[in-house]
Amino acid sequence: MSVLRVAVPTPLHSLFDYLPPEGVDAAALRPGCRLRVPFGAREVTACLVEVVADSDLADGQLKRAGAAIDLQPLLPDTLLELCRWAADYYQHPPGEVYQAAFPVALRQGRGHAPLALPGWRLSTRGRGLPAGALARSPKQSKALACLQGADTVAADVFAEQGISRSILRALEDKGLAERCDIPLVSSGFSAASHPPLTAEQQAVVADLREAPREFACHLVEGVTGSGKTEIYLQLIEDCVAAGRQALVLIPEIGLTPQTLSRFQRRFDAEFAVLHSGLGEAQRARAWEAARSGLAQIVIGTRSAVFTPLARPGLIVVDEEHDASYKQQDGFRYHARDVAVKRAQIENCPILLGSATPCLETLNNALAGRYRHHRLTRRAGGGQPPRIEAIDVRHATLEAGLSNTLLQAVEETLGRNEQVLLFLNRRGFAPTVQCHDCGWTATCSACDARLTLHRRARRLRCHHCGAARPLPRECPDCRSQQLLTRGLGTEQSEEVLRQRFPAWPVFRVDSDSMQGRQAMQALVDQVNRGDPCILLGTQMLTKGHHFPGLTLVGIVDMDAMLFSTDFRGEEHAAQLLTQVAGRAGREATPGRVLLQTHHPQHPALQAMLAQPYHEQARAMLARREATGLPPYGYLLLARSDCRDADAGEEFLRQLRSAAQGRLGGTQVIGPLPAPMQRRAGLFRSQLLLHCTSRAAARRAAHTLVEVAASIPARGGLKWSLDVDPQDL
Ligand code: ADP
Ligand code: ZN
Ligand code: ZN
Repeated sequence: MSVLRVAVPTPLHSLFDYLPPEGVDAAALRPGCRLRVPFGAREVTACLVEVVADSDLADGQLKRAGAAIDLQPLLPDTLLELCRWAADYYQHPPGEVYQAAFPVALRQGRGHAPLALPGWRLSTRGRGLPAGALARSPKQSKALACLQGADTVAADVFAEQGISRSILRALEDKGLAERCDIPLVSSGFSAASHPPLTAEQQAVVADLREAPREFACHLVEGVTGSGKTEIYLQLIEDCVAAGRQALVLIPEIGLTPQTLSRFQRRFDAEFAVLHSGLGEAQRARAWEAARSGLAQIVIGTRSAVFTPLARPGLIVVDEEHDASYKQQDGFRYHARDVAVKRAQIENCPILLGSATPCLETLNNALAGRYRHHRLTRRAGGGQPPRIEAIDVRHATLEAGLSNTLLQAVEETLGRNEQVLLFLNRRGFAPTVQCHDCGWTATCSACDARLTLHRRARRLRCHHCGAARPLPRECPDCRSQQLLTRGLGTEQSEEVLRQRFPAWPVFRVDSDSMQGRQAMQALVDQVNRGDPCILLGTQMLTKGHHFPGLTLVGIVDMDAMLFSTDFRGEEHAAQLLTQVAGRAGREATPGRVLLQTHHPQHPALQAMLAQPYHEQARAMLARREATGLPPYGYLLLARSDCRDADAGEEFLRQLRSAAQGRLGGTQVIGPLPAPMQRRAGLFRSQLLLHCTSRAAARRAAHTLVEVAASIPARGGLKWSLDVDPQDL
């Protein structure tokens, strides 16, 4: 007997068995094809994962699958294997994992259309006709001559020659011509010239060329501007010239239009670009271009790691430390880690690049599991920036800006250079308070204060998105004395505009930069090189290259220093290095000024005294002492519930049901999440700290298994986060 094991889109943690569709031989169906299957009262689209000989279900219980949707598999075996691995590793329902490999239209069961041009060709009968036949109809004769000149002719070609569709239909009616699909092929490949590689760059390229067809993970740890991208470009050129496809993951395309356009300028090639800003039709087309092998270079954000490829030859993960690679809800995978696994399955090299590699990656490199390459110098020349702290204790601050910083801004603008000020808080002020009774504006759905957006005259919650108008008076005591506290980008923008009226101030945050065009327009403007002030959040730190920028000011360094997360110090060091890397990339050396109330803070001292690489080693030593990642493995079970007690109770039961099966694991909690109430739901969590990867995998299995037998009251949802990033 043959049984189809399929992945059904459902939150259940298993695959499902079906009999082959009526009259279909199971041998004709291959894993990676889609099928319609009855599921509960519905019929759903499922992906065939395996054809097996036996089912655990009794014969009578097996349902029959509806119809097969695809005759040829849409996913190659390697991708099926990747999905299998990911479902197991992340202990996520397989149906949702396999869905990640399909564009929405195909998930919904729509027919799969290959990328092809509509065309015409001669029928068998037509091929029997001599040249110059059909002389009595000159138009049909012309069309025939055209068809006789090639195996297939695109419909467009006829249109260009003034041969209408009715002529072709006439040939079709006579049984002389027939319609066909002409598969698209990439038109060739060429690369524009590039500067000769530096010795450091050359060493990396040479190392990969030793074994270009085998799995190896390479970390390229290179200071900002050291020419990492140039290395990717060279290796992509090798890969595509050898007839293979390169997959490039980048953090957020909308924020870094420059990266994408740099690739597109370098290569005359077929690109497939995949990111969240695409419409479904565009996405499906890019997916198909990658899958069919038409696209030679596939560039995308996080989810592109699951794109099928016909001939993978190289994977690149740019800015591998970037937080956006981690999916924070639903299927919580880390695209960098999935990419490494994928390279292993595809047996191709993978390059992880960063100026500030995350500690997990660095540890793998230092332990010899990854090839470790370091680029220590800026490729185009250029000095590393000078970093200095400004002690703002007792200083007069105007919208958070000290005189020292404002003066440095003035001097920089006076030299016709550009300034970047970093403040990771959007809005005007993070708190509105009543001066008379102390009332503060809080979100009714979250444990959070509302941020004032003064231009829009609204209070907004940055956690759930709720917004309401700014009240005229205190809702508690009717006082009109409403004060703002704290600092946001809108406020600094106002002060900067007043103080430097002759120069443009560009505010860059998710309020001011809606859409991809906004960011591109800004980048173009800044690249013209005229003096200006850029004021923005984290958005500004991502891989931009602004040649005229020579001063970077960090308005509130303390916000970065005091984080409760164990990764806080790592993130602060990365952010500082990345922000600093924006300064002085060309001829003029850069300067970085950090405002702080804690000039003696040890983490700050470390950042001032050492380059990232050395700090990272010190941080690794501290992680080792505490057994935290990468020396230990974390799992986080979260519950979301309208009722705070029910959420904690669920986790308590989960804990006690799993107890005894959690060897090598320390369990902490249940505890309320750092922000307990968010968007009206109470959140609790259970942290599992495991001493080995194997213990973590066992623990993850155990939790999922025992959770199935614990009743979830009151609409409770729980989730498991394997290798959580935020605790
Ligand atoms: P990264 O990706 O490490 O930030 P890039 O590849 O963007 O570095 O290089 C930084 C700058 O140096 C770019 O303007 C690039 O064109 C230039 N560059 C890179 N490699 C070389 C080289 N070998 N010779 C001259 N300029 C280079
Ligand atoms: Zn009041
Ligand atoms: Zn809220």
